[in-house]
Amino acid sequence: MVEIKNPLYNCAAPSTQTVHADSHMRATSDVSPPIGVSTTFEYAQTAIDACNYGPDQRHVYSRESTPTNLKVEAVLSTVTEGHAVLYGSGLTAVLAVLIHYKPKKIALSECYFGIRKVIDQYQALVPGVKVIGSECPYDGVDLVWLESPVNPTGEVKDIGSYALRAHAAGAILVVDATLAPPPLSYPFRQGADVVVHSATKYLGGHSDLLAGVVVTRTAKTAETLRVDRCTLGLGAGSLENWLLLRSLRTLSIRVKQQSQTAARLVALLESYRRNAVVTTCHTPSAAELSLGRLITSVRHATLQHNGPHCNFNIAQQHPEGFGAVFSITLASKTQALFVARQLRLHRFATSLGGVESLVDWRHGWDATAEPTQLRISIGLESYDDLASDWKQALLALDESEKKAAAKL
Ligand SMILES: *Cc1c(COP(=O)(O)O)cnc(C)c1O
Repeated sequence: MVEIKNPLYNCAAPSTQTVHADSHMRATSDVSPPIGVSTTFEYAQTAIDACNYGPDQRHVYSRESTPTNLKVEAVLSTVTEGHAVLYGSGLTAVLAVLIHYKPKKIALSECYFGIRKVIDQYQALVPGVKVIGSECPYDGVDLVWLESPVNPTGEVKDIGSYALRAHAAGAILVVDATLAPPPLSYPFRQGADVVVHSATKYLGGHSDLLAGVVVTRTAKTAETLRVDRCTLGLGAGSLENWLLLRSLRTLSIRVKQQSQTAARLVALLESYRRNAVVTTCHTPSAAELSLGRLITSVRHATLQHNGPHCNFNIAQQHPEGFGAVFSITLASKTQALFVARQLRLHRFATSLGGVESLVDWRHGWDATAEPTQLRISIGLESYDDLASDWKQALLALDESEKKAAAKL
């Protein structure tokens, strides 16, 4: 079994881990890891026959492993506090979990719509598999699938309480933590057994690679997953591996900055909304009032503190802040689409976690999403510029609503 983690970095800060956790794997004097695209590797001198490569043979064929893939997995394993296996996409990682654990009864919480589709496929392949809601009793459940934070609201679930319930029923808890990568959350600390990330989002962070990761508690489970990955050809391509390694170097600084900006924007939009409904001692300006009137709700982990869903220590689960995705709803579908198209610094496109802010109309993808809802993913632009962008978009909507009313 290959041990790829360097224990030297287990206790280092995340920003140090992502820069150095693969340093023991350097084979050249290059400071930046070279791009390698070879699918095949020469047999070592000690090779005995085609099936016994000897102890010096690290790589044979790229479906199994490559030098860059091992570096990526060393960095990911260290920063996620587990043992990471990389796949061609987030949904491939989901499939790999199902193939490995072969659950008969799955408890599923609110989640990214693609997860439900993968589970549908799994059910079609394995007759008799049952799926229930994650709030139902866990009788006979062997796998609990939890997404936290939830896509698209950015709200957080109490991982610890799901872990207790899952383990009491003899089930394992899988947490999709795509919306809060390290250093924002560490689901193993709350009792998760497996952690999944779409690396296409924050881990990649530049909207230029598709990949996914499964993180397990033990090196042994990760090794079994690698064997399945090789058998089924589920791994990521060479260039994706390299791009991911390059991107992981800045993970911590990117994600913390995105988290801070998102929290400030959520507070701004929520303050607009509140002024529209309650008039406190602060008398809002006419312009502010009209902006707030347009927003019917803002949802994000930072607004959960006083809500009915927050009877757990939400801050403890998020030592460095919350995710940089949130959602808002407007009064109508037309208004939601108007704002999505009116925003200038938030590109109107799907996905999340990149350096550029995005706004998406989830109803277009997922019929269960409200047509009035917009999902916002905050990038690395400055808070002031993003706040001005929201102001101009909401003012333009206000203007257009007034014009439409005048015509009636
Ligand atoms: C995007 C996403 C996925 C799927 O990942 P891909 O890399 O697009 O396959 C899974 N879970 C969540 C929460 C996501 O946002």
